[in-house]
Amino acid sequence: MWPQQFDYQRADSVESALAAIGDNGKFLAGGHSLLPAMKLRLSTPDQLVDISRIDALRGISSNGNLSIGGAATHAEIAASAAVGAACPALAQACGMVGDQAVRNFGTLGGNIAHADPASDPPTALVACGATIHIQGADGSRSVGAQDFFVDLFETDLQDGELITSISLPDCSDCQCAYVKLPHPASRYAIVGVAVCLKMNGGTCAQADVAVGGATVKAVKCAGAAAALVGSSLDDAALAAAAAALSDDIGDWLTGDVAYPEAYRSAMAGVFLKRAISAASS
Ligand SMILES: Cc1cc2nc3c(=O)[nH]c(=O)nc-3n(C[C@H](O)[C@H](O)[C@H](O)COP(=O)(O)OP(=O)(O)OC[C@H]3O[C@@H](n4cnc5c(N)ncnc54)[C@H](O)[C@@H]3O)c2cc1C
Repeated sequence: MWPQQFDYQRADSVESALAAIGDNGKFLAGGHSLLPAMKLRLSTPDQLVDISRIDALRGISSNGNLSIGGAATHAEIAASAAVGAACPALAQACGMVGDQAVRNFGTLGGNIAHADPASDPPTALVACGATIHIQGADGSRSVGAQDFFVDLFETDLQDGELITSISLPDCSDCQCAYVKLPHPASRYAIVGVAVCLKMNGGTCAQADVAVGGATVKAVKCAGAAAALVGSSLDDAALAAAAAALSDDIGDWLTGDVAYPEAYRSAMAGVFLKRAISAASS
């Protein structure tokens, strides 16, 4: 199908993008989710404001905390030495998005604004305690990733608001990883698990766990994390964490005919163990 008729404008600054967006406009970043939705007329904006060439939205910097521009591409993030050092789980998640062409155009801001349940980066952002920085006509605000993702394709973002950057605490003293079970055709996550572990000698002093793909949104898994803390990540602790994980995600599970909820829940436990193994190696 053809999209509904719309106007197109390329913005060269955050201010000009916010001024141009109007009541029924949409920001255009990589276009990998918005344009297919427009062709299906699931989305019918009358104005597209292209933010992909705004330099202020493109940078990646590391100064204590890691800061990633809202329009940084998955490829840029996956290849960034700063992200690889401060938050390997996010670099891994971005490196597993789709294929190279998707990673070259798709952006972190577009990915999280779209909030597809099968996306990879949200799971890493929730596990690693990211903060989403947002600017609108009335000013700027910041939201924790855990609160940003509300439900299926639903975020805390309001109409006309722009994700300017995503910041993360430096996790370089943690062991963190993201692993996924990819859909064989689309490469989207059937199940994705991210862990961020702080070890003290051989004992797990702090753990953060998140699951996506199996769930309608990226879910922080406090029960699984609690089962890991104080353990040496031995088999008994991993089994307890996998059991707790199925309770953590129980209310949020999603599925389809090919990969039903019970299968995804079981695979989340399997991939939790793989994530811990990847983080520890
Ligand atoms: C074939 C294919 C395979 C894919 N596989 C995967 C995968 O395996 N894993 C995965 O995670 N993703 C996958 N994706 C999604 C892709 O990675 C993009 O991240 C995603 O399409 C959205 O990013 P975008 O930059 O293209 O956003 P767009 O399509 O341009 O925009 C999407 C939505 O976000 C809004 N938006 C964009 N930027 C901002 C901003 N800065 N602030 C506020 N709102 C904004 C837009 O207005 C729109 O509503 C795949 C996509 C395709 C086409």
